[in-house]
Amino acid sequence: MINKTAHIKSFGCQMNKLDTVLVTAALKDAGFGFTEKLKEADVVLINTCSVRQHAEQRVFSHIGHLKHLKETRPALVVGVIGCMAQRLGRELLDNGTVDIVCGPGQIPRLTELVEKAVAKNEKQLDVSDDIRRAIDNPELEDFESVYDRADKDIPGQAFVRAMRGCDNFCTYCIVPYVRGPEVSRPVNKIVEQVKRLAGEGVKLVTLLGQAVNKYKYRAGEKTYILADLLYEVSKIGGIEWLRFVTSYPQKEGFAELIQAIDHSPKVCNYLHMPAQSGSDRILKAMNRHYTAQQYLELIDTARQIVPDIAIAGDFIVGFPDETDEDFEQTVDLVKKARYKNCFVFKYSPRPGTTADKRLQDNIPAEVKKLRNYRLLEVQQAISAELAGRFEGRRVTILVEGLSKKPHLNSDDESNNPQLVGRTADDWIVVFNGPDSLTGQFAQVKITKTSPLTLFGIL
Ligand code: SAM
Ligand code: SF4
Repeated sequence: MINKTAHIKSFGCQMNKLDTVLVTAALKDAGFGFTEKLKEADVVLINTCSVRQHAEQRVFSHIGHLKHLKETRPALVVGVIGCMAQRLGRELLDNGTVDIVCGPGQIPRLTELVEKAVAKNEKQLDVSDDIRRAIDNPELEDFESVYDRADKDIPGQAFVRAMRGCDNFCTYCIVPYVRGPEVSRPVNKIVEQVKRLAGEGVKLVTLLGQAVNKYKYRAGEKTYILADLLYEVSKIGGIEWLRFVTSYPQKEGFAELIQAIDHSPKVCNYLHMPAQSGSDRILKAMNRHYTAQQYLELIDTARQIVPDIAIAGDFIVGFPDETDEDFEQTVDLVKKARYKNCFVFKYSPRPGTTADKRLQDNIPAEVKKLRNYRLLEVQQAISAELAGRFEGRRVTILVEGLSKKPHLNSDDESNNPQLVGRTADDWIVVFNGPDSLTGQFAQVKITKTSPLTLFGIL
């Protein structure tokens, strides 16, 4: 048993949040204490993201900050895990501040690496030599099923990985190079894990995968697809809501998936399905296997089966050679798709990806910025209209906790703090209520709306 205190800072997507939950649980079981305060920590871990250069820059500036801290406290141990650890490996050790580099495929060994770094004051490096072969190991599967816990940051909720890795190789994306090949986890392991989480009070489970609707797992005579997995997880008592992210726009299994939303009251009316672009020429250059028309047909199918389904999208603007005309086609797609919300990213070349090797990042930063702004503006008008439909309606929400950025809500005269929660279809709801509602369901009447937030009274 080691008597040290750790602090972990997490960057990036839900996959990283889940890895943070796993390594925190493993280190706690090994005797480590945890602190929210950097200054109190003996070990600082950074869970990193490589998807855009900006994400990596934020990590480097955090490492820079730790360098100063280490000057006054040389015994401080700094570890880097996640996608940057796999992408940069030894390079991260060279800058002097970092003591441990541990790739996503090696997190079951992180506790051991930390213990060694603390006890022996030696640098530790453990990443995959060949990531495309390394990730499907039983050690990782065991680690996942033992250490997945309810998310302490959002009570009542948990992420559960349905799939690791990605085989899609969208030309701009680093993920297949740092997270390895696609592996669907066994149905029985996922079900066991969700049962355990339900026992810990979890009410909402989000199944994760980079292209989660490619889930396929053969058990005996039956091959389970994502729709089957949703039905299995829906049977678990205590789990009230079930979501899955992120979906790839593919026809295979799509109608079955939306039918699972329709047939199972627990599966939320929510689909996150990135389009990335509305131009067929750009989609081809991105190695996305659909046209804008095919994408819109999938959305039509979804709305025919579940008319009020909330759909979220991702877009990249300023991909190499994207013309004004290509961009207008993206604007057109956003208008037609009528998303609940969209995430818009400026293209960022990632070393080693096909787009970076073969294409020039030739769209000026200013143009990327303008396109980003314009697309969000178009989406904002749609979101405002969709949000407005909630006015006067009563909605059920799962309460996440205190609102981090208090909003003005003059309709409420109680002395209760401002809380935030989400509807099953992922609308953010702000209202005043007792803190004890955190992690519970509540009924709120919507009195006001903005494009991204609904305001109401309990
Ligand atoms: N697997 C998911 C998918 O296919 O949608 C998410 C992958 S990535 C972590 C999340 C989003 O980041 C993508 O949907 C894409 O819009 C964006 N993204 C990925 N690579 C990017 C890059 N090189 N530059 C800008 N945005 C990028
Ligand atoms: Fe990246 Fe494409 Fe895989 Fe998503 S589907 S993780 S964008 S390669």
